[in-house]
Amino acid sequence: MAPAPPSPPPTLEPSSSPLPLSTLRIAIIGAGMAGLATALALAGAGFTEIDVYESAPGIEFVGAGIQIAANLSKQLENLGVWERMQAEVVETREVSIRGGYTDEELSYVDLRHNTARYGRPHRVAHRSALANALYEGCLKFNGRVKFHFQTSVLGIDLNSALTPRILIREGKDTRWIDQVDLVLGADGVKSVVRASMLAQHGEQDKTKDTGEAAYRIMINREKLSTDPDLLALLDGNCTSRWVAAGCQIIAYPISSHNILNIVTTQPDTNFASAPTASWTTRGSKSAMQSVFADFCPRIRRLLSLVPEGEVCEWKLRVHAPLKTWVDGCVALLGDACHPALPHLGQGAAQAIEDGVVLAFVLSKLTRDTDVPLGLKVYEHLRKQRAERLVEEAESAGRNLMLADSKAQAARDEALRRVKNGGENPDKWVDRAVTDYIYGFDCLKDAEERFAGLMGI
Ligand SMILES: Cc1cc2nc3c(=O)[nH]c(=O)nc-3n(C[C@H](O)[C@H](O)[C@H](O)COP(=O)(O)OP(=O)(O)OC[C@H]3O[C@@H](n4cnc5c(N)ncnc54)[C@H](O)[C@@H]3O)c2cc1C
Repeated sequence: MAPAPPSPPPTLEPSSSPLPLSTLRIAIIGAGMAGLATALALAGAGFTEIDVYESAPGIEFVGAGIQIAANLSKQLENLGVWERMQAEVVETREVSIRGGYTDEELSYVDLRHNTARYGRPHRVAHRSALANALYEGCLKFNGRVKFHFQTSVLGIDLNSALTPRILIREGKDTRWIDQVDLVLGADGVKSVVRASMLAQHGEQDKTKDTGEAAYRIMINREKLSTDPDLLALLDGNCTSRWVAAGCQIIAYPISSHNILNIVTTQPDTNFASAPTASWTTRGSKSAMQSVFADFCPRIRRLLSLVPEGEVCEWKLRVHAPLKTWVDGCVALLGDACHPALPHLGQGAAQAIEDGVVLAFVLSKLTRDTDVPLGLKVYEHLRKQRAERLVEEAESAGRNLMLADSKAQAARDEALRRVKNGGENPDKWVDRAVTDYIYGFDCLKDAEERFAGLMGI
C-alpha cells in the first residue's frame, strides 16, 4: 500500500515564544551534515546558546554527490533551507542498471512515480550545496549558533561532577570547556565522542572489514564536452549503475548538470597494503583504471577523463550497532553512531533526520533535569530505523558486489525480470525498501510518539 500523502510542513521559523530550556548550553561536535542540521533545528526551535566545534577551517567545498530522497527533502523544507538548495539540485527521473562489461540495460526504473508516492521527486545535489544551505540557515539566527572552526575536540570527560567537559585544541592551545549542559557528538565515522563514551565502559568500537573500498570522483562539463555519449550522462536526468564481478559504478549529474558524480565500489587493495591510511586516502588514477579495465568502452572512456590527483578512496567498514547512543547529557548523531555503507545513499539523510528529531525532543522538555530522559527518547525514536538502514545498506552491497559468476548471472536475470518499481535486487530502487525509507516523516513520527515515550 502506498504511504499516505505528506502533510504541509511545520516550518521551523525563528521562535518568538521563549522555550523553557532556551538557554541550555549545547555543544555540538562537528559541523557536518548532522551537526549543521542539529544546530539549525535547535536555533529554529528557540535555543540560543549553541556552540559548534569543527576541526576544519570552515564549511568548504568538500565531498561529492548526495542523494536527496523524499524523506530528506521534506526535512530540508521543515528546516527552511530548501529554497536555497533548489537552484542547484538535479531531479533524478530514471535509473538504468546495466552490465558493466556489456553496457546492456538489465533493468530500468522510472522514478517519476516518486512524486505521487512519496510527495516529492528524487533529487541529487553536491554535498557542499547542502552544507552551505544548512550553515547559512544557522547564521540567519543572529548569534544563536556560534561556530568555532579549526577547533578539534580531543575527548569528553563524562565523569565530571555535574555536566560533561570537553577537551579542545585550538591552534597550539589545549583547554577544557566546562560550561556545557549538553554535548552532541556529530563528529562522523571516526567520532572522538563515541570513543570517549565507549572507553567509559571499557569498550571499543567494533568494526567488520568488508574487504571493499569506494572511489568518489567528479568530472566537470568541460572534460566531457568532446564525447557526446558521455555528455548525455551529464545532460540527462538518469542515474546509471553498472554492475560486474565484485565491483560496481554509479554515476549521476549534480550541480545544475555541471558535474558528473561517480561512486564506485571494488575490492580493497590500497588500504589492505597500507593499513595506516585507515579511512580515506588519495587514490591512484591508474590503479582505478586497472580495476575497471574489463568494463565496457563507455566506462573506460569515462574513467580516462578523471582528473589526475582527484581520485578519493574510502575504506568501507561495517560498524556493529552500539548498545546506546546516549550517556547522561551526551548523545551521538549521524555517522558517529550509525555509519552505513553508501549503497542506499541515505547517510546524510539519516544524519539530518537525527538532528531534526533531537531538536524536537529537546524543545518539548520543561526541566533541565529531564535532559537525560529526553536524550533516551531521542535514541528510542531513531535507533531502530537508522540501524535497519545500516543493515539494508550492507545487504544491498552484497547483491551489488557478487564475485561468484553463477550468483551474478542469477542476479542479472532477476534484474531483467524486474517490473518497473517492483522487487529489485538493487535495493536502492526496490519498492519495499524505498517505501520504508522515503515514505517516512521523522518529525511527524516524533510528534506522535513523544508523549508516550516520555510517560506523559
Ligand atoms: C563513498 C561514499 C559515498 C557516499 N554517498 C552518499 C550519498 O550519495 N548520499 C548520502 O546521503 N550519503 C552518502 N555518504 C555518506 C555521507 O557522506 C555521511 O553519512 C554523512 O556525511 C554523515 O554526516 P555526519 O554529520 O554524521 O558526518 P560528517 O558529514 O562526516 O561530519 C562530521 C564532521 O565532524 C568533524 N569532526 C570530526 N572529528 C572532529 C573532532 N574531533 N573535533 C571537531 N570536529 C570533528 C569533521 O570535520 C566533519 O565536518 C557516502 C559516504 C561514502 C564514504
